[in-house]
Amino acid sequence: MREVIMVKYGEIALKGLNKGTFEDILIKNIKRRLRHLGKFEYMRRQSTVYIEPVSHDADLDEVIEKLKTIFGIGAIQRCAVYPKDFEIIKEESVKYLETALQFARTFKVEAKRSDKTFPLKTPDIQMELGGAILEAYPHLSVDVHNPEVTVMCEIRDKGAYVSAERIIGAGGMPVGSSGKALLLLSGGIDSPVAGYMMAKRGLIVDAIHFVSPPYTSDRALMKVETLCEKLTAYCGDVRFFCVPFTEIQEALRDNCPQEYFTVIMRRLMIRIANHFCKENEYGALVTGESVGQVASQTLRAIQCTDAVAEFPVFRPVVGMDKKEITEIARHIDTFETSILPYEDCCTVFTPKHPKTRPDIADIEKAEAMYDFTDLINKAIRDTEIKLFRVEGNE
Ligand code: ATP
Ligand code: MG
Repeated sequence: MREVIMVKYGEIALKGLNKGTFEDILIKNIKRRLRHLGKFEYMRRQSTVYIEPVSHDADLDEVIEKLKTIFGIGAIQRCAVYPKDFEIIKEESVKYLETALQFARTFKVEAKRSDKTFPLKTPDIQMELGGAILEAYPHLSVDVHNPEVTVMCEIRDKGAYVSAERIIGAGGMPVGSSGKALLLLSGGIDSPVAGYMMAKRGLIVDAIHFVSPPYTSDRALMKVETLCEKLTAYCGDVRFFCVPFTEIQEALRDNCPQEYFTVIMRRLMIRIANHFCKENEYGALVTGESVGQVASQTLRAIQCTDAVAEFPVFRPVVGMDKKEITEIARHIDTFETSILPYEDCCTVFTPKHPKTRPDIADIEKAEAMYDFTDLINKAIRDTEIKLFRVEGNE
C-alpha cells in the first residue's frame, strides 16, 4: 500500500499572485526539516504538498511530529493512495481504516471531488463508502454532526486519497517569508516565547544575549544556549550573539544614579542591538516584555527604551499574562529550561527602588554622567557569534 502525507497550506492559501514565492519557502523549510528522516519525493498541487517516502525506513509518525512544528502549514493528513477506481477504493480503504475505526463508536465520511471526471458525485461517494464501512464494522454508527472519526476521501488529479485523521498544523507564515529580526533573549520564560511568536509570522529570528561574568555564571549562559537550540525546532537556524556586558554594567553602577539602572541598562542593550541590526540587515528587534510585569515594563520605561531604538521593537507577548505565556512556553518545550534558577545580567545590581515612571529627560541626564561609547564599541568587538542549526543539519 502506498502512503503519502498531504500538507495543506494555512494562510498562504489566501495569497494572490505571489503565492508561489511563499510555497517555495515552505517547501524548502519542509525539506530541510525532514532531511534526516529519510528520502522523500515532493509534489505540489492544488494548495497541497504531497510528501511520499522513497525509502522504506522512513517513520511517518516521526515525519508528522516534525511537520507539526513548521510554520505555514494549516493541516497535515496521512493518507493511503489508490487508483481512481471506486471498487478498489472501497475494498482497500475499509482495511486501511481498521486501526482508526475498530475502537470508535461513531464516524462520518467526508468526500471531495476535485477531479470532476470521476463518475461518482460527492454525496454518492460518501454514501457508498459509508455503507461499506458500516458493513465491515457493524459496531459503528454514523454521526454527521459530531463524529469520533472523520474519514476523508479526496478524488484528486493523481489519485484517490483516503485518511482518517486531520492534524492541525502550526499555522502562521513560513519562516523566511517576512524578513529577519533580532530577539533579545534572556534566560527567562517570556523572550523565547516572543521569538517563537515572531517566527510564526514568517520572520527569521536570530538572538542576542548579554552576559556579565563573573556576576552571571557559565551555567546561565548554557541555559540560554539550550533555549536557542530548542527554538530551532520552530525557528530554523538561529544565529546567537553573546555580548560581554560586565564592564558596561560596572560603569553604570559606579557612575549613574541607582534608581535609573534598569532603564539605562535596557537602553544600552538596545544601542548594541542597533549595531547588529544594521550590520546584518535585521528589520526589527523583538523582546519578551509584557506591560506591567516589572519596573522596566511600564509605559514610561518602554518609551525611554524605545527612544534609542533605531528599528521597530516588536513585543508579541505585550498583552498576555504570565499564564498565557507559560502555556506557550510549555508547548514549545522551553519552560523547564527557563525556570532553572540562574542569574540573568538584569538581576545583578538591580536597584532597591527603581523608578517606575522615569522621565526621558532625567534618564538622558543620568546616562550622560558617563560616556559609554568606548565600552559599547568594545563589547561589540568582543561579541561571540555562534550558529545553532536545526536538527539533522549540523
Ligand atoms: P524574560 O522572561 O524574557 O526574561 P522578564 O519578564 O524576566 O522576561 P526582564 O528581565 O525585565 O523581563 O526582561 C525584559 C526583556 O528584556 C526580556 O524579555 C528580553 O527580551 C530582554 N532581556 C532581559 N535580559 C536580557 C539579556 N541578558 N540578554 C538579552 N536580552 C535580555
Ligand atoms: Mg528576565
